[in-house]
This record gives sequence, structure tokens and C-alpha cells, in this order.
Amino acid sequence: MSSYSYRNGSSIARGGGGGGAVKVENHSSKYSPSSSLKSKVQQSTASSATSLRRSSTGSSRDDSTVSRRVRVAVRLRPRNAEEMVADADFADCVELQPELKRLKLRKNNWDSDTYEFDEVLTEFASQKRVYEGVAKPVVESVLEGYNGTVMAYGQTGTGKTYTLGRLGEEDAADRGIMLRAMEDILAEVSPENDLVSVSYLQLYMETVQDLLNPTNDSISIVEDPKSGDVSLPGATLVEIRDHKSFKELLQLGEAHRFAANTKLNTESSRSHAILMVHIKRSVKGRNSSLSSENGSMTLMGKTLKPPVVRKSKLVIVDLAGSERIDKSGSEGHTLEEAKSINLSLSALGKCINALAENSAHVPVRDSKLTRLLRDSFGGTARTSLVITIGPSPRHRGETSSTIMFGQRAMKVENMVKIKEEFDYKSLSRRLEIQLDKLIAEHERQQNAFQDEIERMALEAQKRISEVELSYADALEKEKLRCQKDYVESVKRLEEQWKEKQEKHGHGKVKLGQSDDGIDQKSNGVTPVLFAPGEVAEIKQKLQNEILLRKAADAEIDNLKSQLIHWKQTEAARNAELLKLRKMLEDEACQKAKLEEEIEMLQSQLLQISYEADESRRNLDRGMGGNTPSSMDSLMPEVKHQQLRDSGDGEKASVVKLFEQVGLHKILSLLESEDADVRIHAVKVVANLAAEESNQEKIVEAGGLTSLLTLLKSSNDEIVHRVAAGAIANLAMNETNQELIMSQGGISLLSLTAAKAQDPQTLRMVAGAIANLCGNDKLQAKLRAEGGVRALLGMVGCRHPDVLAQVARGIANFAKCESRASSQGTKSGRSVLIEDGALPWIVQNANNEASPIRRHIELALCHLAQHEINAKEMINGGALWELVRISRDCSREDIRTLALRILKSSPSFQAELKRLRVDYG
Ligand code: ADP
Ligand code: MG
Repeated sequence: MSSYSYRNGSSIARGGGGGGAVKVENHSSKYSPSSSLKSKVQQSTASSATSLRRSSTGSSRDDSTVSRRVRVAVRLRPRNAEEMVADADFADCVELQPELKRLKLRKNNWDSDTYEFDEVLTEFASQKRVYEGVAKPVVESVLEGYNGTVMAYGQTGTGKTYTLGRLGEEDAADRGIMLRAMEDILAEVSPENDLVSVSYLQLYMETVQDLLNPTNDSISIVEDPKSGDVSLPGATLVEIRDHKSFKELLQLGEAHRFAANTKLNTESSRSHAILMVHIKRSVKGRNSSLSSENGSMTLMGKTLKPPVVRKSKLVIVDLAGSERIDKSGSEGHTLEEAKSINLSLSALGKCINALAENSAHVPVRDSKLTRLLRDSFGGTARTSLVITIGPSPRHRGETSSTIMFGQRAMKVENMVKIKEEFDYKSLSRRLEIQLDKLIAEHERQQNAFQDEIERMALEAQKRISEVELSYADALEKEKLRCQKDYVESVKRLEEQWKEKQEKHGHGKVKLGQSDDGIDQKSNGVTPVLFAPGEVAEIKQKLQNEILLRKAADAEIDNLKSQLIHWKQTEAARNAELLKLRKMLEDEACQKAKLEEEIEMLQSQLLQISYEADESRRNLDRGMGGNTPSSMDSLMPEVKHQQLRDSGDGEKASVVKLFEQVGLHKILSLLESEDADVRIHAVKVVANLAAEESNQEKIVEAGGLTSLLTLLKSSNDEIVHRVAAGAIANLAMNETNQELIMSQGGISLLSLTAAKAQDPQTLRMVAGAIANLCGNDKLQAKLRAEGGVRALLGMVGCRHPDVLAQVARGIANFAKCESRASSQGTKSGRSVLIEDGALPWIVQNANNEASPIRRHIELALCHLAQHEINAKEMINGGALWELVRISRDCSREDIRTLALRILKSSPSFQAELKRLRVDYG
């Protein structure tokens, strides 16, 4: 229970009653809604239901989802000067018991009704106290990462704008909730890591106008099918850094509101003012609710964890006056205008009623306001409502209806959920930086290698020429030395020869001249030219000469071998060069791989986003009829997606890819030889086709034709499923529906259905045909080409998702048919009956799955509206279903329609009479 009281409950108590905090805490638990007053207070039953629900869901489902009821405070405006005079003799129409959190609404002098609220703020409550009781807990939640809403509801002049928008220029104590909330926000956020931005809008007659840029007067509302978040991509978003600029912004907005209303000739009391404060905070450390393994990926062995951001939104809504407006046109409005002016507010009332009663269908899509506030009521936001009332007994009626609105809102339960996500964008930025670093490093290394190689080649060249030079030099020297030696030896030999000759000549003379026997004895025994010693000497010299020659030869050999050595060294250098080149190539290879890996990561990112969408859809389906969207849009894919800059990273990357690669390129990949590429491409196209803004471009570029061709040419079920899903999305649009038909789409879809194994494929095909069924112009062709039979053929697969789409198709078809019959362009019995759909329709009219049941109930009503179908319907047992619908259909409009048909059809009346069933 304590999780249900505002954390600031005690601070209000302190503000009001000093030391009474403990006492009031006791009261608040004593009079908590679950133990509410038994008398007259209608709320008591529903509140105990709420408390039951709370006990099962009150504890958090996971760390970030908690069930929390919408909190409602009531604030009474003091009597104004006019009331002081005019009502002087009368008591206020209400009596407040703030300490009991009760309000008594006087019925007459002796009787009153008592109501209980989360906070009862008297005419004396200060603005500070109102802020702390109503808005502060919501602001604190928003700062923690939850969405939050603060809204004021009440009759014009009861103080909504006073409570929310007051600027407190004369007296700062008068500052309203908007200013005080921004003060708290700015005090909490860090200017470096967090971002606060604001848009300010006015909603009037179902048109959203930008109060920060008045030329922007038709802003569209976009819903993110994944998160269900709504956004206004066209609205001006101003970053807020300080309090002063915010105040100026509010003043500017107020001025524009005044100007716009003057131009449109309206009062501001007829328009809704909506302030949206977007807060983006990065989550540091471990206090993230996203588990640590989730979403991390590896790049070359390194774990990269995307940073986590919390993107929450505070919405402050100053609603139009809740008083009923005069539809007679006395205010200068036509009846149409009057309806339109009222539309959003009455739609809000209907949604709150439906949520309070736990009804299966909440008509969120009926108005812009309810679409904008879909997260605030029954969504994931923490919501606080202040209802403002005046004291005057003359407005008792309006005061009472305001109180009843507040009472119903107190029964609305939200599942508050932390708005946290991985910041894929900044991860991608980080990856890009890392890649750039690697590329630069690689380039640097490559340059260094190149330089080193050049240096070594130069050095080798230098050494080779040095060696060659010294070799030539040595050779020349040796040659010269040899020549010199040779010349010298020859000279020497000649001299010796001369000497010998002279000696020899002298001896002869001696021999010839003297008779002296001694000389004869000593010299004349053998008369030779050389003495034997001299010959030996010459021989020796010759030997020497030969040796010298050999040494020279050896030297030459040595030099030659040195040359060879150098050549070998050069070869080794060349080998090294080759090795380095190879390393360079490896390096380049590595780079290519790295780039491939990045590409793969990007495609994984795409895949993740696609699968996230898919699982989101499964989740939507798992929730069955409880999601408000299941009635209006059975294909969650068609919900428009939010693509603003601060949107989630995955989608942004799809868009980025789309921009980079180009649609034509993506479409051409649909015909790729590679099956993986084909699957991938069709997933990307499907993802793109899920966004309304892309659909026209895809069809223009021939994407629809390519998708249809793919149904024919591919045998892969995944391709079939995804392509059929994309076609179903494109088939939301009338022009595309005609295109699909003219390109033989029906027979392709029927063929795909016949081959399909997976119910999800059938669901997509059935969804596509169901969309075609809703086109008035295509009725005859659709039937002729077997569309109706193909749809009915799919009921063999009993999967509820498929059946829901079939039922939707049948309802669409029956609706168009009924329209054609009423306009006289069709005669004869319903084609659906002719084609044998009736037995299945009757069998499933009370199907326990509400989407199936509701569509069939509608289809039955359409069929029954035409007397010509009545006989077959009676024979087929459809009459009993109509009777059941007229009694217990959860939708009042269908119930009434069935009853009206039963009463007005002569055939049905006759049959009921025959069976003695009283249905007069
Ligand atoms: P609404 O926005 O609901 O039409 P306003 O906020 O414009 O109502 O209030 C109508 C008038 O009543 C204004 O003059 C405002 O100053 C005054 N007023 C409203 N609430 C209070 C309050 N709590 N105390 C004093 N004056 C108030
Ligand atoms: Mg106002």
C-alpha cells in the first residue's frame, strides 16, 4: 500500500499541519481507496477491485515496470468578487474535509454526497503546496526516467491555468506548476551529460498548432509501433539551459496562443495547451535496468557495450474548459465546429470511462488529444490529475460532472515503466572512431614500411656499386703491378743477358789470347753461354713469377667470390623486401576484414531492429484484445514510426542506411543471387514499408512490383512472410491496393497462402487481403480473382492471429458490400454467403478471442442489414448470434445496431414471432 502513496504525501501534511505528519499518514492509510466509504461513494467497489489488482501487480514485474494508479487531487477556487456579491446569501456548493481527503457536494440543504480524493486542496492551499502535492512526485519520477503527466481538468474560470501556467510576475509565490517543475528539473540535471528540451502546443478543433512557431499550424502526431510512444516530429523543440529562458518561452507561447485564438476567433478556454518537456539523461555505472549482457557485442574480441540513456517526457496539459458548449451555434460556431471543438475532450472522457471499467476497447484513436495522452492514461506514464472547481452553487451541475470525471480517473491504472534504452547511435559513433583510428594506424604503418624498404634498397645499391668500384680498382692495380713486374723482370733478364754476354765475350778473348794453361784449365773445359748458377737463378725467378701470377689469380677469385657474396646479400634483401610486401598485403587484407565486420555489425543492427519490431508485434499479439490498438489497426506494422533525430538508434540506422545506400540499390538487392542478401534486403524493405512516409517512395521505385515478384520467385518461407508483411503495409493505401490487384497480387497471395507452413506468413497474407477487402472499388474483382475464397481457405490454420485477420477481411468486405447495396450499386445476396462464408462466420461469432469476435459481430450486422440475406442467415443460425449480439456485445454501438436490425427486419421479426421469442 505504501508504494501507492506519493512519496511527498508527508511533505504536504507537514505543509498543512506542522507536526501532524504522522497523523495524516495514518489517515491516508485508513482512508486509502481500498477501504473507502461504503455509503454513496460509488468508487468503493471499483477501488477494492483496484486494490485487488494492485496486490497482484503492485510489486514490480521487473525492475522497471510498476503498476500505479492515476492520482487525482481536487482544488477549490476561492470566491471571486462577483460570487462574493451574487452568492452572498448562499453557502458554497461544496464542503472540503482536507484532513480526511473528502469532499462533500451539497445536494440540497439537508443532504450531500461524499467523495474521496487523493488530495483535497482548499481555497487556501498555496501554489507551493499544490505543486508538491500534485506535480512534484511526477517530476521526480520523470527525472528517474519515467514518463509523467500533470493535467488540469475543470470548468472555465475555476483555476486550471492559475494552477499550471501562472508566471508569478507580481508575486513569486504565485508561480504555477510549469515553472516550479522546470526549476526542479534544472536543479537536478547535469548540463554536460543531460539534455532538457521543450515543445509547447495548442490543440484546437483537432488541429495541433505550434505555440513556439505559429506558422507551424498543422502538426501531425506520430506513434512509434515499438514503444507505443507518441511524438510530434514537426513541433519546434527548444533546448532549455536556464530558468529565465524557459519563462520567456512560456511568455512567447502565451502570446502566440493569444494571437492564434484572436485569428481563429476562439477563446483560449476552448483549446488545450500542452507543454512537453523532454529529458534525456545518460545512465552511468550499474544502476541501469537493462541487464549488462544485453545488447553488448564484440568487435575483434573486444566487448563493446552500448551506453544507456533514459529518455523521459513530462507532459503538462491545461485542458479546455469542461463545460458543455452550446451546440445551437449561439457562440458563433456551426454545429460541425461545435462537434469538433468538443471532440477531444469527450473522447478523453470516453477513454477514461473505458479504462475505469476495464473495458476491452479503449477508443484512443478517436481524437488527437487521446492519441497524445495514450501513455498518460492506461499507458506507462505516472499521471497526476488536478480537477479544479468553483464554489458557486449556480454551477453545481458542472462541478458535479467535474467531480465525477475525477472519480473515474482515479480508477485508471498505469503500468509505469522506465524509459531506458541502449544508445546505439553513440556506440556506432564509437565504432566509427575506432575504425578510423585503425585505418589511420594502418596507413601510418604502411608508410613506414614503404620508407624502410626504400632505405634498404638504396643502401644495397650503394654497397653494390662500392664493391664493384673497389673490385675494378683492385683489378686495375693488380694488372698494373703485374705489368710492371713483368717489364722489370724482362729488363733484369736483359741486363743479365748483356752482362753474361760481356763476360762471355771477355772469356773468349781470354781463351783465344792466352796460352796460359791455368786459364785453359779453369775456363775452357765447357765453353757455355750461362753459368749453371745463373740458369738456376732465372728458373727461380720464373718460378717466382708464376707464383705471383697465381696469387694475382687467387686475388681475382677472392674478389669474384666477394662479388657473389654481395649479390647473394642483395638477393636476401630482395627476399626481405618481398616478405615486407607480403606483410603489407596481409595488413590490407586485415583492413578489408575489419570493414566487412563493421558492415556485418551494421546489418546485425538492422536485424536486431527488425527482430525487435517482430518481437514487439508478438508481444502486442500476446496481449490479445487488451491493447487499444488491436481494434483499429490489426497490423501493428502500419503504425507510424517515429523518426525524429533523438529517436532510437536502431531506426535511425535503418534510415541512415536507406539514405546511404539508396532505395533503388536496396530494391535491386531483392533480386540478388545470394539468398542471404535477398532475405536481408526484403527485411529492410519491410522495415521501411512499415513507415507511412516511405511507402510512396517504395512504390514509386517499383518496390511493390519487386515484392510481388519475390512472392512468385522465392521458395523461402521467411522471404514470403516478410514480403507479404511489407505488401500488407503497402496495402493500407487505396492507390496501392489497386496496383496490387492489377499486378495479379491476389493470385500470388493465394499461392503464397497455399504453400505457407508458418501461421505468421498466413497472418501477413490474410492481413494484406483483409486490407484489399476494405476497398469499395475492388469488390467485384477481388471476388472474381478468388480473393474471398483465398481468405476463407486460410481458416484451416486455427491460429487466432490468422483468424483475426480473416475476420477483419470479412468485416471489411461485408461493410463495402453493405454500402454498395444501400447505394443500389449491388443487388442480390451477399457474395460472402454465396461463397460459403456463413457457417464459419456463425461458428466464430462468439469466438473467445475478442478481435475475431468483434469483427465477426460487425460483419453479421452488415449482412443482416439487407433483407435479401435474411433467409440464408436464419437457415444458417445467424439469427441467434444477432440476438446474442443485441444482448451482450461489449460495444454499445454494435449492440444497438443489432437490436435495431432485429426490430426492423420483417423476416427476422417473423421468425422470432414463430419461435415465440418476444422481441417487439
Ligand atoms: P481556467 O484556466 O480554469 O479557465 P483561470 O486559471 O484563468 O481559470 O482562473 C480564472 C480566474 O480565477 C483568474 O482570474 C485567476 O486568477 C483566478 N483564480 C483561479 N484560481 C485561483 C486561486 N486558487 N486563488 C486565487 N485566484 C484564483
Ligand atoms: Mg485557462
